[in-house]
Amino acid sequence: MLSGEVDRIIQLFSKLPGLGPRSARRVALHLLKKKDQALTPLIEALIQAKESIQTCKVCHNLDTSSPCTICTNPSRIPNHLCIVEDVSDCWAIERSHVFKGHYHVLGGLLSAIDGIGPKQLTIESLLERIESQSIQEVVFALRATVDGQTTLHYITDLLEPFNVKVSSLARGIPVGSDLDYLDDSTLALAFEGRRFVPSH
Ligand SMILES: [Zn+2]
Repeated sequence: MLSGEVDRIIQLFSKLPGLGPRSARRVALHLLKKKDQALTPLIEALIQAKESIQTCKVCHNLDTSSPCTICTNPSRIPNHLCIVEDVSDCWAIERSHVFKGHYHVLGGLLSAIDGIGPKQLTIESLLERIESQSIQEVVFALRATVDGQTTLHYITDLLEPFNVKVSSLARGIPVGSDLDYLDDSTLALAFEGRRFVPSH
Protein backbone atom coordinates (compact mmCIF):
# COMPACT_ATOMS: atom_id res chain seq x y z
CA MET A 1 0.00 0.00 0.00
CA LEU A 2 1.31 3.42 -0.94
CA SER A 3 0.60 6.71 0.78
CA GLY A 4 -1.78 9.16 -0.86
CA GLU A 5 1.10 11.47 -1.83
CA VAL A 6 3.09 8.75 -3.59
CA ASP A 7 -0.03 7.51 -5.31
CA ARG A 8 -0.79 11.02 -6.53
CA ILE A 9 2.72 11.40 -7.98
CA ILE A 10 2.33 8.12 -9.89
CA GLN A 11 -1.11 9.20 -11.11
CA LEU A 12 0.31 12.50 -12.42
CA PHE A 13 3.22 10.81 -14.17
CA SER A 14 0.96 8.21 -15.77
CA LYS A 15 -0.93 11.04 -17.53
CA LEU A 16 2.25 12.21 -19.30
CA PRO A 17 2.63 11.30 -22.99
CA GLY A 18 4.55 8.07 -23.47
CA LEU A 19 4.21 6.93 -19.85
CA GLY A 20 1.76 4.26 -18.80
CA PRO A 21 1.08 3.30 -15.14
CA ARG A 22 4.06 0.94 -15.11
CA SER A 23 6.63 3.47 -16.36
CA ALA A 24 5.03 6.11 -14.13
CA ARG A 25 5.72 3.92 -11.09
CA ARG A 26 9.32 3.41 -12.18
CA VAL A 27 9.92 7.13 -12.74
CA ALA A 28 8.30 8.04 -9.41
CA LEU A 29 10.32 5.46 -7.52
CA HIS A 30 13.55 6.60 -9.18
CA LEU A 31 12.87 10.23 -8.22
CA LEU A 32 11.90 9.39 -4.65
CA LYS A 33 14.95 7.18 -4.15
CA LYS A 34 17.32 9.79 -5.60
CA LYS A 35 15.91 12.81 -3.87
CA ASP A 36 19.02 15.00 -4.07
CA GLN A 37 20.44 13.90 -7.43
CA ALA A 38 17.20 13.59 -9.40
CA LEU A 39 14.14 14.97 -7.62
CA THR A 40 15.49 18.34 -6.45
CA PRO A 41 17.09 19.36 -9.80
CA LEU A 42 13.90 18.30 -11.60
CA ILE A 43 11.70 20.38 -9.30
CA GLU A 44 13.99 23.39 -9.72
CA ALA A 45 14.09 23.04 -13.52
CA LEU A 46 10.30 22.69 -13.68
CA ILE A 47 9.71 25.75 -11.50
CA GLN A 48 12.12 27.74 -13.65
CA ALA A 49 10.39 26.53 -16.83
CA LYS A 50 6.99 27.43 -15.40
CA GLU A 51 8.20 30.99 -14.76
CA SER A 52 9.95 31.55 -18.07
CA ILE A 53 8.37 29.39 -20.81
CA GLN A 54 6.15 31.30 -23.18
CA THR A 55 4.70 31.07 -26.66
CA CYS A 56 6.66 33.10 -29.21
CA LYS A 57 4.39 35.86 -30.45
CA VAL A 58 5.95 35.63 -33.93
CA CYS A 59 6.24 31.92 -34.78
CA HIS A 60 4.25 30.31 -31.87
CA ASN A 61 7.18 28.12 -30.82
CA LEU A 62 7.75 27.54 -27.09
CA ASP A 63 10.83 29.14 -25.57
CA THR A 64 12.01 31.15 -22.59
CA SER A 65 11.75 34.38 -24.59
CA SER A 66 9.34 35.93 -27.05
CA PRO A 67 10.34 36.46 -29.85
CA CYS A 68 12.07 33.10 -29.44
CA THR A 69 15.73 32.17 -29.94
CA ILE A 70 15.08 31.07 -33.53
CA CYS A 71 13.17 34.23 -34.47
CA THR A 72 15.90 36.48 -33.07
CA ASN A 73 18.87 34.53 -34.51
CA PRO A 74 20.47 36.82 -37.14
CA SER A 75 22.18 33.92 -38.93
CA ARG A 76 18.89 32.29 -39.99
CA ILE A 77 17.63 32.90 -43.53
CA PRO A 78 15.10 35.68 -42.94
CA ASN A 79 12.61 35.11 -45.75
CA HIS A 80 12.33 31.31 -45.68
CA LEU A 81 9.49 29.87 -43.63
CA CYS A 82 8.76 26.27 -42.65
CA ILE A 83 5.14 25.63 -41.69
CA VAL A 84 4.60 22.93 -39.07
CA GLU A 85 1.62 21.57 -37.16
CA ASP A 86 3.09 21.53 -33.69
CA VAL A 87 6.03 22.78 -31.59
CA SER A 88 7.35 19.19 -31.48
CA ASP A 89 7.72 19.25 -35.30
CA CYS A 90 9.70 22.48 -35.10
CA TRP A 91 12.01 20.94 -32.49
CA ALA A 92 12.40 17.73 -34.55
CA ILE A 93 13.47 19.70 -37.65
CA GLU A 94 15.83 21.79 -35.53
CA ARG A 95 17.48 18.61 -34.22
CA SER A 96 18.13 17.46 -37.79
CA HIS A 97 19.79 20.80 -38.76
CA VAL A 98 18.31 20.58 -42.27
CA PHE A 99 16.46 23.88 -42.27
CA LYS A 100 18.08 27.28 -41.74
CA GLY A 101 15.09 29.56 -42.10
CA HIS A 102 12.28 30.45 -39.70
CA TYR A 103 9.21 28.52 -38.56
CA HIS A 104 5.51 29.03 -38.22
CA VAL A 105 3.66 26.72 -35.82
CA LEU A 106 0.01 26.33 -36.87
CA GLY A 107 -1.15 24.82 -33.60
CA GLY A 108 -3.03 21.98 -35.33
CA LEU A 109 -4.48 20.99 -38.69
CA LEU A 110 -7.78 21.82 -40.31
CA SER A 111 -10.16 18.98 -39.50
CA ALA A 112 -13.83 18.67 -40.36
CA ILE A 113 -14.22 15.69 -38.01
CA ASP A 114 -12.63 17.42 -35.03
CA GLY A 115 -14.32 20.72 -35.88
CA ILE A 116 -11.04 22.62 -36.30
CA GLY A 117 -11.39 25.56 -38.67
CA PRO A 118 -8.95 28.24 -39.88
CA LYS A 119 -9.74 30.54 -36.93
CA GLN A 120 -8.39 27.98 -34.45
CA LEU A 121 -5.03 27.90 -36.19
CA THR A 122 -2.43 30.68 -36.48
CA ILE A 123 -3.18 31.27 -40.18
CA GLU A 124 -3.98 34.96 -39.79
CA SER A 125 -0.63 35.69 -38.13
CA LEU A 126 1.05 33.59 -40.85
CA LEU A 127 -0.40 35.81 -43.58
CA GLU A 128 0.68 38.92 -41.68
CA ARG A 129 4.22 37.55 -41.51
CA ILE A 130 4.28 36.65 -45.21
CA GLU A 131 3.50 40.27 -45.96
CA SER A 132 5.48 42.14 -43.31
CA GLN A 133 8.61 39.96 -43.49
CA SER A 134 8.60 39.71 -47.31
CA ILE A 135 8.68 35.90 -47.16
CA GLN A 136 9.91 34.41 -50.44
CA GLU A 137 9.82 30.69 -49.80
CA VAL A 138 7.45 28.55 -47.76
CA VAL A 139 8.04 24.85 -47.02
CA PHE A 140 5.13 22.85 -45.67
CA ALA A 141 6.25 20.12 -43.25
CA LEU A 142 2.83 18.65 -42.48
CA ARG A 143 1.72 15.03 -42.15
CA ALA A 144 0.68 13.20 -45.30
CA THR A 145 -2.86 12.70 -44.01
CA VAL A 146 -6.18 14.06 -45.30
CA ASP A 147 -6.08 16.82 -42.66
CA GLY A 148 -2.46 17.66 -43.50
CA GLN A 149 -3.20 17.88 -47.21
CA THR A 150 -6.41 19.87 -46.66
CA THR A 151 -4.46 22.36 -44.55
CA LEU A 152 -1.67 22.57 -47.14
CA HIS A 153 -4.09 23.32 -49.97
CA TYR A 154 -6.14 25.77 -47.93
CA ILE A 155 -3.07 27.82 -47.02
CA THR A 156 -1.52 27.49 -50.50
CA ASP A 157 -4.67 29.13 -51.94
CA LEU A 158 -4.34 31.99 -49.45
CA LEU A 159 -0.71 32.47 -50.46
CA GLU A 160 -1.57 32.96 -54.10
CA PRO A 161 -1.66 36.79 -54.01
CA PHE A 162 1.84 36.83 -52.52
CA ASN A 163 4.86 36.11 -54.62
CA VAL A 164 6.11 33.08 -52.66
CA LYS A 165 7.60 29.79 -53.76
CA VAL A 166 5.67 26.99 -52.07
CA SER A 167 6.97 23.47 -51.52
CA SER A 168 6.02 20.46 -49.45
CA LEU A 169 8.21 17.78 -47.88
CA ALA A 170 8.86 14.74 -50.03
CA ARG A 171 7.37 11.34 -49.36
CA GLY A 172 9.47 8.97 -47.37
CA ILE A 173 7.65 10.27 -44.36
CA PRO A 174 5.34 7.43 -43.32
CA VAL A 175 1.70 8.43 -43.75
CA GLY A 176 0.27 9.91 -40.58
CA SER A 177 3.49 9.78 -38.60
CA ASP A 178 4.72 12.52 -36.30
CA LEU A 179 7.85 14.30 -37.56
CA ASP A 180 9.10 13.94 -34.02
CA TYR A 181 9.51 10.18 -34.46
CA LEU A 182 11.53 10.36 -37.67
CA ASP A 183 15.26 9.91 -37.62
CA ASP A 184 17.31 12.88 -38.75
CA SER A 185 18.38 11.43 -42.10
CA THR A 186 14.79 10.62 -43.14
CA LEU A 187 13.84 14.19 -42.29
CA ALA A 188 16.86 15.56 -44.17
CA LEU A 189 15.94 13.51 -47.28
CA ALA A 190 12.36 14.73 -47.09
CA PHE A 191 13.60 18.32 -47.07
CA GLU A 192 15.99 17.79 -49.96
CA GLY A 193 13.29 16.10 -52.01
CA ARG A 194 10.61 18.68 -51.29
CA ARG A 195 8.40 19.28 -54.27
CA PHE A 196 6.99 22.60 -55.31
CA VAL A 197 3.26 23.05 -55.02
CA PRO A 198 1.81 24.60 -58.18
CA SER A 199 -0.47 27.57 -57.62
CA HIS A 200 -3.77 27.33 -59.45
ZN1 LIG B 1 9.68 32.51 -32.67
